Formats: sequence, structure tokens, C-alpha cells
Amino acid sequence: MNKYEILKHYFGYAEFREGQERMIDSILAGKDTLGIMPTGAGKSLCYQIPALMMDGITLVISPLISLMKDQVGALNQAGIHAAYLNSSLTVGQYYKALAFAKEGRYPIIYVAPERLVTEEFLDFALHAKISMVAVDEAHCVSQWGQDFRPSYLKIVEFIEKLPVRPVISAFTATATQEVKEDIIDILMLQNPTVTTTGFNRPNLYFSVQSPKDKYETVKTCLLQHPNDSGIIYCLTRKLTEEVCEKLIRDGFSATRYHAGLRDEERQNNQDDFIYDRCRIMVATNAFGMGIDKSNVRYVIHYNMPKNMESYYQEAGRAGRDGEPAECVLLYAGQDVITNQFFIDNNQDNEELDEITRQMVMERDRERLKKMTFYCFTNDCLRDYILRYFGEYGSGYCGNCSNCLTQFETVDVTEEAKAIIGCVAGCRQRYGVTVIIDTVHGANTAKIRNYRMNENPFYGSLAKTPTHRLRRIFNELQLQEYLTVTNDEYAIVRLTEKSGNGLPDDWTMQMKMAKEAEKQEKVSAAKKSGRGKASAAGELTAGQQTLFEALRSLRAELARAEKVPPYIVFSDKTLTHMCLVKPKTKEQMLTVTGVGEFKFEKYGERFLQVLEEYALAVSESR
Ligand code: ADP
Ligand code: MG
Ligand code: ZN
Repeated sequence: MNKYEILKHYFGYAEFREGQERMIDSILAGKDTLGIMPTGAGKSLCYQIPALMMDGITLVISPLISLMKDQVGALNQAGIHAAYLNSSLTVGQYYKALAFAKEGRYPIIYVAPERLVTEEFLDFALHAKISMVAVDEAHCVSQWGQDFRPSYLKIVEFIEKLPVRPVISAFTATATQEVKEDIIDILMLQNPTVTTTGFNRPNLYFSVQSPKDKYETVKTCLLQHPNDSGIIYCLTRKLTEEVCEKLIRDGFSATRYHAGLRDEERQNNQDDFIYDRCRIMVATNAFGMGIDKSNVRYVIHYNMPKNMESYYQEAGRAGRDGEPAECVLLYAGQDVITNQFFIDNNQDNEELDEITRQMVMERDRERLKKMTFYCFTNDCLRDYILRYFGEYGSGYCGNCSNCLTQFETVDVTEEAKAIIGCVAGCRQRYGVTVIIDTVHGANTAKIRNYRMNENPFYGSLAKTPTHRLRRIFNELQLQEYLTVTNDEYAIVRLTEKSGNGLPDDWTMQMKMAKEAEKQEKVSAAKKSGRGKASAAGELTAGQQTLFEALRSLRAELARAEKVPPYIVFSDKTLTHMCLVKPKTKEQMLTVTGVGEFKFEKYGERFLQVLEEYALAVSESR
């Protein structure tokens, strides 16, 4: 079979996505290949398809047991023989799998890196024909990345022992230059074909909100997704526990995950989520690496994370199937303080020498600042993200909360002058809250103690609501008229632009959301489908009913096979089925994600449900 036939036959897809073909061709031409593509772009197919076309075995190196299990499960479901070798197997199972591997049963074998240079495995590998070593999550070789794994360094050691050097391919979603260079150097890729696809994920809707009551906002969002799976990230274990408990009490199907739980409980909770037994996962950032669940329809950040890298990685766990999904960040000033605390008390830094430690802290504070500015900006959020990662955006994506909000340009010269004047008048000694309270004219003990009631600007903006003052303050930071020190005191300082006084004719304009319209616009745009965030969102009411029927059949089949439902068919496949409404095998095979093998296994059952639905509809007419 050629690559197109394999794509259709085993995976049920009609065409390749951006970058896939180039990487497959490069591997088939015997060249080392490095693929840098965002989460959900479809990196796995780039090594799986050539693996099926080359004679000999492809070894896939993957960092996590859960990832291997998932991928091997998906391959077996598609009718491809694959196995994994890692510490989750008993000794007996391990030797059995090795024996099958020796017989040449598996074109694809997933191996944990620490297994590679063990005696048993080498004994097998040295006598087998290894045609490719594919390194998944290749950024794990780099100490620059967040997921450095020393065991990944064994990969090169292993390759050097092989009698013939196989093709080496490597894949990651991490785009920074340091990591890319590390991968090439450390894995010793020879003149590799490097393919980088854009980092944009058009199916993700981005939104930032600063609600008074975060929990209520979360509930509203969950009610808009009554049947969908989603993740809620919290900054601390304590908050994770709290939010999860409240949700359960309010009748939501939620579970939790953080490093403070016992291994067994963590594993169970993760499985409940992956197998759709529980819809909502409340977790710290310990959760997610290696979660390939494709039908996560929303990721809510209950707190602002520490940097844009973390944010995009975590938010990017939504919508891997390419269907609409929602990424909501709930910002509060306290999040900055909590993150600042983590930076100042980072245990990982303790081994570093003092100069390096200071440098790392400085870098982390800078990153935190860029993250904070993401929450402040009134421009397109997607643009902000893409620019952060070194790409250009179009200025307007039409699928983020800023693009969908009606702004008006307002003149804030008077307010801005008062705030800057207030900072200058207190000799740059206080934090944001004190400054805002002063210009607003708050009559608190703190203000009197600091004698800020004697500041010339005390009460000069008494009529402006404090939330508006905060917006203007944030804008002054964005435009670099004010800066906040990067230490625990977070003191407001003047900058080069403002330090020597402002010119007489100085003015300042900024975009402000038209308050009353804001919510309505966003929800109206969502209803009209632009910001839709449910896989079934584009379906009519009748089709939704059908979707639910197909979904429950999928759940039943998944339970019987002991695999996660999305491995039977993705949400995207079910949605497409509702639109195509196939009646025959031929028609069913045109549905995206339905290949020959899966059709043999499940096709008739799904056709039956479709037929029952068609009958019910015609009878009701
Ligand atoms: P990555 O490893 O890059 O994060 P995956 O390999 O896990 O992404 O693929 C994400 C999803 O995209 C999977 O559900 C996969 O089946 C699907 N996919 C991959 N390639 C295609 C394609 N050419 N057409 C449609 N869907 C695809
Ligand atoms: Mg992957
Ligand atoms: Zn936008």
C-alpha cells in the first residue's frame, strides 16, 4: 500500500495535514527528520505511516507509560500490530512481548528510554532489523525544556550500539530555538529535514476574564458544556481540592489530580477522566503531560499560570481532534502574587550557583510579566500568543474574546496623569492597590498611615470606579509609562517615558470594552457559530439527538473493549457521521476517521443506530 492508501485504510482519513507528507517522504527517503508541530497537529502519523512501509521494525521512544498505552491501543484499534515495552508489564508479559517482537509480529514497538540499554532489550535489538528510531516528545532530551528526562540521553548510547544506523526521526511541540538545537545536537541527527508548522490552532477559542466570583463563572461555563469533557487548572493543590469539592457538591461529575495524592488514586482519577467516567478534571499543572485525550472540549484556567509556554501547552490540550474547543483564563491580581511566590521559592533553583539562580529568577519574572500582559491586552489574544512564539498574526482572528468584544476608544488623559502624578508624589514607594486607593480617595487606615491622604492626587478620581482605574493602570504598564518591580513588594515605579514629567500636550487613548454590550456580543457570536466550542455545536437539534445516540453506542463499545471512547471514534468522526448520515458501507467509509478495519469492527453497529434514527424521523413526519 502507498501512503495515501494507508492513511485511508487504517486511519480513515482522506488527506494529509500540513507538514505530514513532507516528513513521511523524508523518512522514506532515508533521511533523519525533525518535526516541530503543535499539540494535536498529528505527529504520530508522521512516523507510523513510514513504519508500515519500511521493512524492519520501528522503535518509538516515548516518555510516559500512559502515552504508550494510548498510542498502542489506538494502533491496535486501527488493525495495526504494535506493542509496548515498559515497566507496566509483568516480567512474564515483557518476555512474551519480546518473543513476539523477535518473531517479527510488530512493525511498531514503543519502548521506554530506560529499557533501551538493558541486556534483554539489546539482545533483541542487535539481532533484529531496526529500520527507524522515532523519538516522540523529543524536547525531553533538552535541559532547557520543562520536561528534561535524563533517560532520554540513553537513546544515543543505544543507537551507537546498533550494527546499522537506522533512520532517526524526532517530534516535539516545543518551538524554542535552544530546544530545537539541543534535539539536533544531542540526538546527533545527520543533516535532518526540519519541518515546522505554524503554531496557530484555529479551532481553539481564547478568552480572558477577570470575574468577581471565579467559581460562578466556572459554573456558567460548565453549564454551557453539559455533556463535554474538560479540564480546570488551578495553581495550588489546596485550591484544586476546594474547587473539585464544590463542583461535586453542586452535582457536577468531577475528579482531581495533583502531586499530593497517592499514586494509585491519581492513576484512578486520570483513568476516570480518560475513559469518560468523569467529565471534569480539576488539576494542578502536574496533570496533562501524556494525555492524548482528543475530546477535551474546554480548558479553564482558574488562575493565571506562570508563563505563556505553560499556558499554551495546557490550554492546547483542548480540541486535539480539530473540533471547536474553548480556552478560558480567569485572571485575578492575586495570581501574580502567587506566581511571584513560586518563583522566589523555587526549590529546583537551590542547586544552582547564586549568579545562575538570580538569572533564572529574572528570566522567570520576565516571563510572568509577559503572561500578565496577555491578561491585560485588548488586542487579539491569538495574535499575542503567536507573536510570543515568534510568529505573525493577522491582527484579527474573530475567534477570541477580544476580537468578539466591541471596544470604543476613550480618552483617559486625565486619569492617566493623576495616576502617574500620584506615583511621583509618593516617591515611588507603594504598590498598585495603594496608588489606586489614593486617587480614588479611599478613607482607610492604611492610606492614613502612609499619609497618602496628603498626596496631591488624593481623591482626584473619586468618581471613576476602581475597576476602570485598574484597567487604565494596566494600560499604563502595557504602554510602559509605569512598571511594577519584580520582587515581593511589587512597587510601582516611573519609567524612562514618565520619569522626567510628561509633555504639556501629552494625551492618552485606550480601547475600553463597551460594558453593557460585552457579554451579549460574545455570547451572540458564539451562538452564531463563530465562537462555538462544542463538537456537536454545528449540529441541528435533531442531529444532536443522533450525536448522543452515537455517543452512547461508542461508550458501550469502549467499555467492552476496555479502551477510552475517543480511541473507538473521535468526536469529530461522530459529528461527521451525523452530517453524512451514511446508509451503506461505502458511504460510511467516507466519514473521516472510519477506516476498513474499524468498519469491520464497529461499522454495522453504527449503521444500525443511524437507520433507527432515520426511521424515527420519517415516522414523526
Ligand atoms: P500530536 O502528537 O501532534 O499532538 P496526534 O498524532 O496525537 O497529535 O494527532 C491528533 C489527532 O489528529 C488524532 O486524533 C489523529 O488521529 C488526528 N489526525 C492526524 N492526522 C490526521 C489527518 N491527516 N486527518 C485527520 N485527522 C488526523
Ligand atoms: Mg504526540
Ligand atoms: Zn482574536
